[in-house]
Amino acid sequence: MPPRPPIVDALIIGGGPAGLAASLAFARTRTTAIVFDSQSYRNEGITHMHTVPSRDHVNPYEFRSIAREQITSRYRSVWFEQVTITQAMKKLLGKEKYDGFEVTDSEGRSYQGKKLILATGSRDVFPTIAGFKENWPQHIYQCLACDGFEQQGTPIGVLDCSPKTAHFVNMALNFDSRVTILTNGPVPGYPAIKQQLRICEAWGAKVDSRRIRRLINNGPTHEEGVTVEFEEGETLTLGFIAHKSATVNRSQDLIDQLGVECVDPGLGGHIKILNPMFNTTSVIGCFAGGDTMQAMKQATVSMADGLKAAAGAAMEIAAERESATWKMLEEQNINATKNASFPEGHGAAAMLSSGDSKAVN
Ligand SMILES: Cc1cc2nc3c(=O)[nH]c(=O)nc-3n(C[C@H](O)[C@H](O)[C@H](O)COP(=O)(O)OP(=O)(O)OC[C@H]3O[C@@H](n4cnc5c(N)ncnc54)[C@H](O)[C@@H]3O)c2cc1C
Repeated sequence: MPPRPPIVDALIIGGGPAGLAASLAFARTRTTAIVFDSQSYRNEGITHMHTVPSRDHVNPYEFRSIAREQITSRYRSVWFEQVTITQAMKKLLGKEKYDGFEVTDSEGRSYQGKKLILATGSRDVFPTIAGFKENWPQHIYQCLACDGFEQQGTPIGVLDCSPKTAHFVNMALNFDSRVTILTNGPVPGYPAIKQQLRICEAWGAKVDSRRIRRLINNGPTHEEGVTVEFEEGETLTLGFIAHKSATVNRSQDLIDQLGVECVDPGLGGHIKILNPMFNTTSVIGCFAGGDTMQAMKQATVSMADGLKAAAGAAMEIAAERESATWKMLEEQNINATKNASFPEGHGAAAMLSSGDSKAVN
């Protein structure tokens, strides 16, 4: 690799699908970028990812490592750093005082770039049910398009009691007719929720409103599955449980330091995008891609959004160059006109050639 310039075109925080797609765009255009990867991925623990064309049923670890290998072996303008970024801020960079960014890792090393891409992902916030963590993600699935297909033919639990319960149950019924809705306590009296449960019952799903004491992981396969132990009565053994946890931005600290605006927590709390064509954020020069700016949190969507963020950063750099060059050409034009009316070596023209244009103006 050639030496890394002190100021790169883009600092990309995140080495998941979004950051990798963004970095590939920089590699392809021979523009410089550093990708920071703390190796904390949302899909940690899964062995196969799905809904990614040509990479269906591929281990996400393998997916990321192929992407990194392709970028570093074929191109020479993208560097990877396995570090955690703990600080990010706007900074005037270099002699030109470029309005860029500086980020600092947990070891105190700083990196400077013209643009910043936040591809920092999100993380799931688990409910406080004993044994939940021990079954995640082996027997608890947050998305039935991502997981479920391979486990079809086993009884399914839907741990949900909300206006989206019927959506989950509808999908679960594609995998097995034995679907139980686990409400984990009495059903709230809201008409919208009652309506959902009645629809699900009409489809043949059962509603179990007992409180869950704990979830027991019976072993790695779906034949072994997960057993639900309730506060009273018989246990229930299932192939898997569908549950959509709430998510939060993995690096909310960086988002806050930068002052990047997010949408209301009730709407997901992800980064607010001002121009969806280029994934611009509320901070000029800062772009975002992937789970951290999306309600639809999927690998393919994240890749597309990472690419848009890279395109946005590149467009902004190009626009800045264009306007700087135009300004210079205009100045040259003005000077050329002035030179024509003031013969060389005389008065103002002489002052102009000495660079003292202010004196002429
Ligand atoms: C259990 C589970 C299974 C899933 N299965 C599928 C599936 O089959 N198909 C599918 O399409 N989607 C699936 N998803 C969703 C998918 O994982 C995400 O949509 C996708 O990973 C988002 O990509 P991303 O690049 O935005 O974030 P991530 O993949 O989470 O990557 C975030 C990156 O940012 C880095 N990072 C964050 N903060 C910092 C920091 N401060 N410093 C340095 N680095 C930092 C992390 O280390 C990581 O490299 C699944 C999710 C879960 C939870």
